[in-house]
Parts: sequence; structure tokens; C-alpha cells
Amino acid sequence: MPELPEVEITRRGIAGPLTGRRIDACTIRNGGLRWPVPAHLAGSLPGQTLREIDRRGKYLLLRLDHGTLIIHLGMSGSLRVLPNGVPPEKHDHIDIVFGDATLRLRDPRRFGAMLWHDGPDARHPLLAHLGPEPLGADFSAGALAGALAHRRCAIKLAIMDSAVVVGVGNIYASESLFRARIRPGKAAHRLTGPQVARLADEIRQTLRDALAAGGSTLRDFLHTDGQPGYFQQSYFVYGRDGEACRVCGTAIRSRRLGSRSTFFCTTCQR
Ligand code: ZN
Repeated sequence: MPELPEVEITRRGIAGPLTGRRIDACTIRNGGLRWPVPAHLAGSLPGQTLREIDRRGKYLLLRLDHGTLIIHLGMSGSLRVLPNGVPPEKHDHIDIVFGDATLRLRDPRRFGAMLWHDGPDARHPLLAHLGPEPLGADFSAGALAGALAHRRCAIKLAIMDSAVVVGVGNIYASESLFRARIRPGKAAHRLTGPQVARLADEIRQTLRDALAAGGSTLRDFLHTDGQPGYFQQSYFVYGRDGEACRVCGTAIRSRRLGSRSTFFCTTCQR
């Protein structure tokens, strides 16, 4: 599943070649994504210019003349900028043509979304209740402490709740908690002040590290036919069940938490 760093790298990658350009055509080959892609886009996008691309959590917000095209990559989606005329493959559901370049959405599992919104972000049901951006100025130890104070769920589930902070998925939740030395199953409201401060720092730093690692894969991300993989990083705990902790050597354990696999070190994390 593309997580926040992959979505941000996608944003940067498509903003460069496409910002300021006019849409000439939109082809919807399969609009059956998580929600139906509005059929009117084929007629209403052409003629509009892409002013800017923002990101809110894992939503890409393409600002056009008359509104915002909201794109979510779901479980398996990817966006690429291709020269016109590259034949679509099986899961290439939507093309948006900007002059001599085509923005192509591929989504094999079709959990992604492409929606139209012509009002303020705060009025859209998918965007209205989102918490602070982890890399933005509104996310701080104080803000996180406030959000956790009355949450009795496991801390890992709390930081994956987009009302607490947006865009922290399973990988980066596990990694941030390891780096902050906090057990993922600990009740959110029982974290100490220093633990909350460490966690806020490590969520930010973990995402920054992933972005830095992703920058070098930008070319592949946009121009090959393969799916964008996760950035090649050496995770501390994610996916390392039974392997030795990189810090202390203890075998990494895994458990299910809120139906997701969670990885942690029983020695390093308290
Ligand atoms: Zn350890």
C-alpha cells in the first residue's frame, strides 16, 4: 500500500512535468474504483489548467480551474507520466492527457479513488476530519499529547488514526514506535510526556528518512511499467519477525493488533 512518503514522492514527480499545463483529454477505461469515478470528468476536465498539486494525508489534490481532482492510490495504485501513445495495459484505468504527456492511473486492486470537488477542502467528507500533517507545523508533542490523552486504544492504532495524525500507515507506525522505544500495544493515554515527545519526533524523522530514500527512486517511480515498490530501506522491525533486533540482538516479535501485523522488540520497547 502506498504510504505517505510514496504519495509525496508521486506528488513531486507529477507536479514538475504537469503544473501549469492544460488538459486536452480524459479517458476513463474503468471507473469502478473504490467509489465510481464521475463519468463527467471525461467532458469536464479538458480545457482546465493544472494550477498546483497539494497533498493532504494520502490524498493528492490536483487544483484545476474549476475545482479539485482528488486522487487516492488505495492499496495498489500508481500514477505515471508517460509520452502520449503508450498502449494501456490491463490495469491502466484512467488517462489524463496534458499536451504531449499522459498522466496514467494504474490500480490492479481498484481500492483507489478519483473524485471531483468544487468547494473548500474542509467541506469534503474525506478531507473534513483529517488531523495534522506529520511533517507540518501543526504536529507537535503538545498536539499529540492532547490527541492521546483520552484514547485508551493501543498507541499503534492511535497513531494510525487519521484524526490523530494523517498518513502514518502500518510500516511507519511500527518503525516510529521502535525508534521511540515504545511497545505498540501500550495504551495510548498511558504514554509519559517524554514518550510522547520522542514519538512525535520519531514519526517525523521516520517519514523524512523514507522521503530521502525515495528521492533517488523517482525516475523508476514515474517511467517504468513496474509497480512502484516500497523504498529500499533497512527497516528496524517491519517484516522482520524472528530476525535479530538491529540494536540489541533480541528476536523481533510480531502480533496482530487491530487486524494488522505489528513488529516490535521486547527488549528495546517498553
Ligand atoms: Zn532490540
